[in-house]
Amino acid sequence: MRCLLCDARLSETVSWKTLLLMAEPPAACQDCLLPLKKLGGPYCPVCSRSMPDNQECSDCFRWNKNREWAGVLTKNISIYQYNEEMKAVLARYKFRGDAELSKLFAGEMNKTYREHFREAEAAVPIPLSEERLYERGFNQAELLAKQIPIPMLHPLKRISTEKQSKKSRKERLQNLHLFQLSYADDIQNKHLLLIDDLYTTGFTVRQAAKILLENGASSVSSLTLIRG
Ligand SMILES: [Zn+2]
Ligand SMILES: [Zn+2]
Repeated sequence: MRCLLCDARLSETVSWKTLLLMAEPPAACQDCLLPLKKLGGPYCPVCSRSMPDNQECSDCFRWNKNREWAGVLTKNISIYQYNEEMKAVLARYKFRGDAELSKLFAGEMNKTYREHFREAEAAVPIPLSEERLYERGFNQAELLAKQIPIPMLHPLKRISTEKQSKKSRKERLQNLHLFQLSYADDIQNKHLLLIDDLYTTGFTVRQAAKILLENGASSVSSLTLIRG
């Protein structure tokens, strides 16, 4: 087996740990995996940004002060920091269409699901627009969602936003709609878990969460691979 990132040959000997835990052998070598730093230490309880004393961060404070957005997202947990190495991995994954790379994150996605989101009944990957999906050939959020053992639903459709993106941040927050509902029957009274690759301001997952709540979901959280 070869490392998915640098193509070096992975050690053939199965470690005792792998054997005892019946775990999947790693998909990349230690040299490539080590620079991908996980988030650690105290963090904002809403979005998992690193914060002293587990305080709520200023972004989440602002979201939760706004009557329209307060409590829309139960919580977000991200796994990795957005450093240079992760940026390179992500670029390769998304833009060079290296779908195999989702295997790299299977173990951590699964572990995070088990630690934080046991109550979730279905995973909802953040959709790409049809144009993007055509260009890229796969939706990275969907491949990540496949790594966790709950059913996957596709209740959302992405609206093309190219024209809207030239407006100011404030205008965008007020007027921009990223998603529309495509199918709501199977989300009724369900605890849903949104899946995406990157959490930056929380705007995308909150837009998705709001539509899902307005159409019958009981709660919406998110699991994102990287915290920008
Ligand atoms: Zn490697
Ligand atoms: Zn926060």
